Amino acid sequence: MKLKPAPPNFGLRFCRVDIADRPVIIARQHQVVDTLFATTIGFDGVAISTIEHVMAAFLGCRVDNILVELDGPEVPIFDGSAAAYLQLLEKAGLREQSAPRQYLKVERPLLVKEGDAFIKATPADCFRLHYFIDFSHPLVGRQEFSWCFSETSFAREIAKARTFGFFRDVQKLQGMGLARGGSLDNAIVFDDRGILNNDGFRYNDECVRHKVLDFIGDLALAGMPLLGHFQAYKAGHSLHNRFLRQLITSPEAYAVVNSSSLIPAFLRSPSFPIFPERFSPITKAV
Ligand SMILES: [Zn+2]
Repeated sequence: MKLKPAPPNFGLRFCRVDIADRPVIIARQHQVVDTLFATTIGFDGVAISTIEHVMAAFLGCRVDNILVELDGPEVPIFDGSAAAYLQLLEKAGLREQSAPRQYLKVERPLLVKEGDAFIKATPADCFRLHYFIDFSHPLVGRQEFSWCFSETSFAREIAKARTFGFFRDVQKLQGMGLARGGSLDNAIVFDDRGILNNDGFRYNDECVRHKVLDFIGDLALAGMPLLGHFQAYKAGHSLHNRFLRQLITSPEAYAVVNSSSLIPAFLRSPSFPIFPERFSPITKAV
């Protein structure tokens, strides 16, 4: 994976450099083609999977424009959290760009349900989230977490929370030829009674914090940061995406507002040395 600076209004885009014509896919909600184990965007038979953690890192450090180049179909998983992407972005440095930042502001309540799971949005002047999960496991059970966006709290409270799974599911997936790289190095793995990772949890409520991370990453596909109060109950990638599609196709539910009245924020893009080659032409983006 290579992260490259991009001009204002470029957005968050992924490029498959291992495929002829280097197809580029813009990370937007309508490009999502699969949400079974992770969020996958695709177009015309080209797919890029597990984008949600790096997308959360972009939102978490207010990156608006970036080109992510990949030489394969999946974003590197690192330790299953967003910590490594954050470190890379911090190391590279970020540059403010001379264009106003835009936000998608929730103006009217919106509710999207799936069985007993739901996501609800109500108007707010910041990005606030309350997430609730309920897993029948002695170390997880019911967990809830409330969070309000700030770069420091993202780094401190959310970015380090790892993805989690159950050993029996990992076995099943590996039997299907999936999750072959899945190990205790890139996920919290539970057996029926406990946790298999020697070091235990990074936070007592690491699972719900990871769901918050996933939500932030999946909602970053709006193409701009959101302002609203979101409540998510037993949700996941599929419902996150359904909710975002519903929001974007309900023009009465939101407004696009300019940053000037909110906080002195400008568009940002990585400031590390620009690679000599030009951006590949955007042939496949919609
Ligand atoms: Zn995740």
